[in-house]
Amino acid sequence: MTTSPHPVLWLKAGAITDAAGLLIQPGSLLIELASPMHDESLAPLHGDLLAVGSHPQVATHPAAPHALQLQRPGSLIIPALINAHTHLDLTHLGTIEHDPQQGFVAWINQIRAGRLSTDELIRQSVQHGVECSLAGAVVAVGDIAGVGSLVPLKTLQDSPLVGVSFIEYFGIGAAEDGSTARIAAMTPHAAPPQSGVRLGLQPHAPYSAGPRLYRAAMTQAQRHDLPLATHLAETAEERAFIADAAGPLRQFLERLNLWTPQIANEVGAGKTPIEHLQAELAAAPWLLAHLNFVTDHDLSLLAEMDCSVAYCPRTHEFFSHEATLGPHPYRRLINAGVNVALGTDSVAGLPGFSAIGKGPLKPLTPWDDAKLLRRRDHANPLELLKMMTINAARALRMAESLFTLQPGPIAGLATIEIAGPATSSNPLAAALDSASSPQLMSGADLAKENSSTTDSHSAETS
Ligand SMILES: [Zn+2]
Repeated sequence: MTTSPHPVLWLKAGAITDAAGLLIQPGSLLIELASPMHDESLAPLHGDLLAVGSHPQVATHPAAPHALQLQRPGSLIIPALINAHTHLDLTHLGTIEHDPQQGFVAWINQIRAGRLSTDELIRQSVQHGVECSLAGAVVAVGDIAGVGSLVPLKTLQDSPLVGVSFIEYFGIGAAEDGSTARIAAMTPHAAPPQSGVRLGLQPHAPYSAGPRLYRAAMTQAQRHDLPLATHLAETAEERAFIADAAGPLRQFLERLNLWTPQIANEVGAGKTPIEHLQAELAAAPWLLAHLNFVTDHDLSLLAEMDCSVAYCPRTHEFFSHEATLGPHPYRRLINAGVNVALGTDSVAGLPGFSAIGKGPLKPLTPWDDAKLLRRRDHANPLELLKMMTINAARALRMAESLFTLQPGPIAGLATIEIAGPATSSNPLAAALDSASSPQLMSGADLAKENSSTTDSHSAETS
């Protein structure tokens, strides 16, 4: 009999790998599950990894003889994934077709028009996003919650996902004082530290949030130990706005009666977005979404900072940013020592997503972004797995070890069916290059195994 009150699972797979350099073919994992699994539960299996190694090595563990065995000889096992930047409250929209000729402001207007106004509709959209995430083997998100709404945070806290819900703040020019006061008055009572989903703060972007708003967010973040994020260096329009105080984003602010002489003093000095926010970025570990263009001077500044980057490759392609901004600098960032994670951004800026209720559920996962980088750039598979696990954990200030397969607590496991993983010299490359997609291991996997075995040890799960 096992002495543990929790069921122990012995997973035998064709191959096991993680971004910390583990590679075992074939391999075994022994996990003490955090809770008894319900047969129909789609919640990710998680718990304490007791042992990892070859089948004979793991067989020597005292808990092994009583463990429930799962066989996955044709699969690669990896840690469950993190989506470092997304907007689950926009999942209801599905893909919004974008005409690059119309520019970024036309896109912003479509998103503004599509935002939901009731708590119940926001909850449904985030919940749909949770289901799309789980379907893509994602267990943790850096989710942008929208303006002032705690509904996405609560919805995530009620879901199997963990991560950060970044409350978003807009406020520039005539609107900056009001937003700065709101941020100064907020208290993070909604996210107790023991919760798996933390509250974070996100001034939207430097063309929609003024420097005082950024500094107010930093003050609150420091006071309550909250993660910080922002959109930065995303579009040609942003580049023109910061450098020259000109272009469609200035006209946009003028139309909204937000433009003030003070903004004119703060932008238009020929700076890049990173130079514009240099003092703020240097003072806290920001998560910077996009960073689609950087100069060599920006790189030298970033190399001295503790900021992370969430690169969203499919969104970058969707907006044809390469045509106006050149290739995304993720390799240059990595070479400069910057921590780069993968994000999907919202489904609105990704191809092939249906509006809620209008089509089949499609996985929302950085795995598909990694596949793009593999296909297009022949990116290193281990580097890609890092960007979906340990780099993203660091970016969201979560424990990196939850997303490796070292003994200790783990956030979840994903399994990918591939032909001959036990013999492939690089099963992760084979998985990324195959048509297979990662599946989260869940209670449903145990149920299938339970129904196909007469092993009396399965009674221990009850
Ligand atoms: Zn975003």
